[in-house]
Amino acid sequence: MTTTQDPRKTHTEVDVAVIGSGIGGLSAAALLAHRGYSVTLCESHTTPGGAAHGFERDGFHFESGPSFFTGLSVEQSTNPLRLVLDQIGEQVEAVSYDHWNFHFPEGLFISSTDEKRYHEQLAKYASEKGMQEWRRLEERMIRPPKPEDIHKPFASLVDQELSDPFLRNLCDFDAFSLSGMDAAGTPLAEMHFMFRERFKASVDYPIGGSQAVVNALVRGLRKHGGKLVLGAHVDSVIVEAGRAVGIKLRRGGTVRARRAVISNAAVWNTMSLLPRGAVPDAYRIESMSAPQAESIVHLHLGIDATGLREDLEIHHVVLKSWDVTAPQNMCNISIPSTLDPGMAPAGHHAIHAYTAGNEPYALWEDLKPKSAAYQAMKEERAEVLWRAMEKVIPDVRARTKLALVGSPLTHERFLRKHRGTYGAAYRADEGRVFPGTETPLPGLFCCGDSTLPGVGVPAVAMSALITAGAVDAAA
Ligand SMILES: Cc1cc2nc3c(=O)[nH]c(=O)nc-3n(C[C@H](O)[C@H](O)[C@H](O)COP(=O)(O)OP(=O)(O)OC[C@H]3O[C@@H](n4cnc5c(N)ncnc54)[C@H](O)[C@@H]3O)c2cc1C
Repeated sequence: MTTTQDPRKTHTEVDVAVIGSGIGGLSAAALLAHRGYSVTLCESHTTPGGAAHGFERDGFHFESGPSFFTGLSVEQSTNPLRLVLDQIGEQVEAVSYDHWNFHFPEGLFISSTDEKRYHEQLAKYASEKGMQEWRRLEERMIRPPKPEDIHKPFASLVDQELSDPFLRNLCDFDAFSLSGMDAAGTPLAEMHFMFRERFKASVDYPIGGSQAVVNALVRGLRKHGGKLVLGAHVDSVIVEAGRAVGIKLRRGGTVRARRAVISNAAVWNTMSLLPRGAVPDAYRIESMSAPQAESIVHLHLGIDATGLREDLEIHHVVLKSWDVTAPQNMCNISIPSTLDPGMAPAGHHAIHAYTAGNEPYALWEDLKPKSAAYQAMKEERAEVLWRAMEKVIPDVRARTKLALVGSPLTHERFLRKHRGTYGAAYRADEGRVFPGTETPLPGLFCCGDSTLPGVGVPAVAMSALITAGAVDAAA
C-alpha cells in the first residue's frame, strides 16, 4: 500500500479496491491480501458484515441475518466459507448441533443431520412409495450433476422422481429456504450442495454469532496487510480509458486500484456507481432489471428465559401453509443464546424471528419512518412473527423485555440493499443464470449474492473464491 492514511480524506493507491464488507467482499479482500496484493475495502456502514453484521442492545446480541452455518467445527469441510477461512489461516469457534424444528401444516418435523432420524421424520408424513422415490432422488442429488444440468431447475428432477405430495412440498420448502425461490426457480446445482451436505456436514453455531465469522474474515484481511475502512460510502467507480481504476468516496478521497475494483454491492447498487457509458447500455438495462426477491420483516426479542426447557432448540421454522412462497407464510426463528449463552444477559434469551424474503417492499415504500402509519404497519406485519414465536414459547409476549421490529426500509438502510431485497432471484425455469464475476468493464469484478452461485453464506464465499481467482489470473 503506498499510503496508510484514511482514504476518506486522502488519495491512496493499492492493487485492489473492494466496495462492501458482506461475507463475499470480506472473503475476496482477505483472499487477495493473503495472496500478496495490497487491498483496501471500503464499507458504507460503521460495522462490517453486511447481512451478517451483529448489533447489541441492552446486553442482548442480535444478528441481522444468517445464523445457520455448516462445516465450521469439523477438521475438514468442503463448505466454501470454510475453504476461505482455511486459506487465510483463520478459525471460528463453534458449537455443533444435530437437529432443529419445522412446524409444518401436518405437524412437527424434526430435521436432523442423522440420516436414519431424518428418514424416520419423512416417513411420518410420506407414503411408503414416496420414501422409495425419495431415496432415488437422494441418490441422484448426491452425485455431481452433469455440466449440462447445472442450471436446470431443481423441479425438473423432482417432477421426474417424486409423486408423493408431502415430499414434493418439502422440495419447494427446501429450495425456497435456500434460494428465496421455489423448486422450479432454484437451479439444480444449488440444491445439489444441500443434498450432498445434509448428512455429512457439521451444523454449527459460531460462538459470538455471525459477527464472529465476520470478525475472523476481518482479522484475516488485516493480518495480511489489507485495510478495512468503515463509514466509507463509495459514490462511484472511477473509469479511465475504458477501465475501472479506482473508487471515489462520498466523504471525499479516492482509492486508486492498479489491478482491480471488486464490487460486493448488489447488482442494482453496483450499476448506480458506474458513470454513463462505462458499460454497454444493454448490459446496464439488463442488470438494473435483474429479478429480485422481495424483502423481510424482522423481530428481535430479548426475553426472560426463566423456566424454559434447557434443551430448547436454536432453530425453528413455522410454515402456515404449503403455498411456500406466499407472503407472511413462512417464519424463521433463531435463538442463538440456547447454544451460546453469551448472546444474552444471564437468564435471558436473544431471539431473531424473521419472515421469508417475500415481504412486498411496495407495501412500505411510501411510508415515512417514525410516522404513525409506519409504526402501525410494523405492528401489523410483525404480528405473524409473534404468533410463530408462540408456537415455540407460548408465553413469549409476557416474557419480553425488549422488542425491535425491522422493516424492509430498515433492511434497505442497514444492508444497503436495493428495495430491501433478500437477494437476486434469477429463476432457473426462465433460463436465467446468475452472472459470473467478470463484467464488460475491464478491471471491474463483482462478488456476493448477485453473482454465481447465488444467495446464502456458502454461495457468496464461493463467489469470493471465484473472484479472487479471476483477479489473480487477470493480466
Ligand atoms: C434475515 C436473513 C437471514 C439469513 N440467513 C441465512 C442463513 O442462516 N444461512 C445462510 O447461508 N445465509 C443466510 N442468509 C443469506 C446470507 O446472509 C446472504 O446471502 C449473504 O450474507 C450476503 O452476502 P454478500 O457478500 O452478498 O453481501 P451483503 O451482506 O449484501 O453486504 C454487502 C455490503 O456492501 C455494502 N455496500 C453496498 N453499497 C456500498 C457502497 N456504495 N459503498 C460502500 N459499501 C457498500 C453494504 O453496506 C454491505 O455491508 C440470510 C440473509 C438474511 C437477510
